[in-house]
Amino acid sequence: MLRLVKSSPDVIKIEQEPMIDSGNYYKQVERYAEQIRKTSSADEIIRILDIVLSMTKGLKLSDEIFTAQEQVKCAEQKIKSLKNELEQLRELVQIDQMTGAFNRRGLDDIFKREAARADRNAQSLGVVLIDLDNFKQINDTLGHSYGDNILINLVTIAKKTLRPSDTVARFGGEEFVILLPDVELEDALTIVHRLQNNLIKNSLLQIDERSISITFSAGVALRSFGEHQHSVINRADRALYQAKRTGKNRIIPALI
Ligand code: GH3
Ligand code: MG
Ligand code: MG
Repeated sequence: MLRLVKSSPDVIKIEQEPMIDSGNYYKQVERYAEQIRKTSSADEIIRILDIVLSMTKGLKLSDEIFTAQEQVKCAEQKIKSLKNELEQLRELVQIDQMTGAFNRRGLDDIFKREAARADRNAQSLGVVLIDLDNFKQINDTLGHSYGDNILINLVTIAKKTLRPSDTVARFGGEEFVILLPDVELEDALTIVHRLQNNLIKNSLLQIDERSISITFSAGVALRSFGEHQHSVINRADRALYQAKRTGKNRIIPALI
């Protein structure tokens, strides 16, 4: 089976897809099935299903199994839909249902991936901890469901303000973590200021003839090489605490 492979923008190579006979195919499927049984990581299962899918595509249809061609197609279909279901399921368990941001579990997974990528490429990773200001009072004054809408609104604005490669995760009640791959501290601070301005512009409230805005305080840390998630988030948390202590609606860089 021939396939086109785009190795660079201008070069297209033709590669032979690796062929595999049915005996080997079944042995390898057994091996991968065993690996799937042993893992609890959806990412790992999806990776294995991808391998099995490409093996199934490359299955050499010799005469004796020619009649099995339909079965092979059917298996390919089943693997594809299993993979889709798994991807949807992974989304479901990793996303905070109210705001659409990642939840703690999603953050853990993405942090691991981004930290590994950052270390591999000698890049930085910006880690921002955000906490809405006076949120209890907002809830008490305007009602809990109004408060819910503010949280949803913050995530919507954050997604619009940030790059697609950035991550917004709900860390707890009205606290969020933002991951900014490959940024310098100055850039990270600028991005969070932009988010703060966009939130203020989009959340003017009239309360008792007064105009107030929803604001947040933030601590911004740059992860150092090999640094663990809890360590960099702790540093961001200490900076956030400073921001709260010194008047709120502030963005403070974390100490190394
Ligand atoms: P500070 O400026 O110091 O952060 O004060 P704060 O009032 O924001 O902080 P505090 O920790 O006292 O209160 C947080 C509030 O967030 C209390 C809680 O009811 C509210 N909250 C947490 N999760 C949700 C949620 O899902 N929806 C709504 N509406 N409110 C929430
Ligand atoms: Mg809080
Ligand atoms: Mg708060």
